[in-house]
Amino acid sequence: MVIFIKDVLLNGEKTSILIENESITGIGKNLSMPVSGTYPDSDNDTKIIDGNGLAVFPTFANMHTHAAMTLFRGYGDDHPLQEWLNQWIWPAERNLDDDIVYWGTRLACLEMIKSGTTLFNDMYFFPEAAMRAVHDSGIRAMIGFTGFDFFNPESADKLKKDISDWYDNYSKSEFQNSKLMIPVVAPHAPYTVSGDTLLWLADFAAERGMHYHIHMSETAGEVTNSIEQYGIRPYIRLEKLGVLDRCGDRFIGAHSLHLDDDEIKILGQHRAAVVHNPNSNLKLGSGYKFMFNELRDAGVNVTLGTDGCSSSNNLDMLEASKTMALLQKGWRGDPTAMPASEAIQVASANGFKAAGLNAGKISVGTKADLLLVNLDNIGFVPNNDTLSNFIYAAHSESIDTVVCNGRIVMSNHHVNDERTIKDEARRVVQKLLCK
Ligand SMILES: [Zn+2]
Repeated sequence: MVIFIKDVLLNGEKTSILIENESITGIGKNLSMPVSGTYPDSDNDTKIIDGNGLAVFPTFANMHTHAAMTLFRGYGDDHPLQEWLNQWIWPAERNLDDDIVYWGTRLACLEMIKSGTTLFNDMYFFPEAAMRAVHDSGIRAMIGFTGFDFFNPESADKLKKDISDWYDNYSKSEFQNSKLMIPVVAPHAPYTVSGDTLLWLADFAAERGMHYHIHMSETAGEVTNSIEQYGIRPYIRLEKLGVLDRCGDRFIGAHSLHLDDDEIKILGQHRAAVVHNPNSNLKLGSGYKFMFNELRDAGVNVTLGTDGCSSSNNLDMLEASKTMALLQKGWRGDPTAMPASEAIQVASANGFKAAGLNAGKISVGTKADLLLVNLDNIGFVPNNDTLSNFIYAAHSESIDTVVCNGRIVMSNHHVNDERTIKDEARRVVQKLLCK
């Protein structure tokens, strides 16, 4: 496919952008429009977009999600964590099946496309169904096989067998050659998975060049428990187990909110990535003093996520970007902390980098993952600073067009199959919550 975006606003100046196949191949005021016949076999697949009244930004990378949990939106809110898990979420999750996870993930992908996200890093059950949903939605995903062993040897053996079988099946599946799908090893957390299994999974990931996605230090309580049980903090324990050594920059630690200086240093030494989930942390009362400057300065790749919809209630990365920036300014008492230019880098380029993808910026040679915002949207009036307006003023309704890997997945704020996806989500939630 060839896409030519004519006269669009980029970094405060009007320019044109040429996309061929999967990448941005030209940017410039005098770029000539593709001529009919120039691209053999693609005449019907050439799209010219009038960029007047539109501005371009890279799309978002949502680096920590539980996509199918979008079906739990608003279910059991405002209860204490353990009560909420025991009485609301875990009983309902026993009803999960392929059908529920497929449509739950389609619903999540729909919401992500509408709010400008083209890559997400997921951790949930029924990963084959999630992969099918991502494939049918046309965006990118890192699909994590998650699990627990609760320190029980039999459960550990089962988890190891299940993940091996899943990877074998994936290797023979139609998704094996997909450019949009990345399989990931995703143990739930160091307090639900034993040290032996955490290390076994790190070896499994390292042998296959896979990413390792895990919840880390989300609450102060889990850090205290780790110190009581093992005498060390969670990241020091992972380091001693050898997990960080094996995973390096393919390690993705979700949350990583309660850290000390030694843990930050170790993460930097391994060039690891962490995912800040500001809205989820605030809603669950987990904390808000995310150590952004310290992590960045230590060489850690800091990315942004929403977490699942049962704790963040939406998957809107634009909203998460604003919360992240305001939190840094607020707790540090410094209005210069986390400027808009840094917020968009964390929310976009850093996430793609963690996934090993050359995307997240509008420049020649990068993957064509970009979005167009409508400058007539109230958040851009007046347009004194387009980036500032995008991060601090606009809502995702301002996003008009989304391109993923050189393919248009939303235009005029319209996504294919939107009606069907909403209807099916309403159908499967009856199976999930009412048994
Ligand atoms: Zn999570």
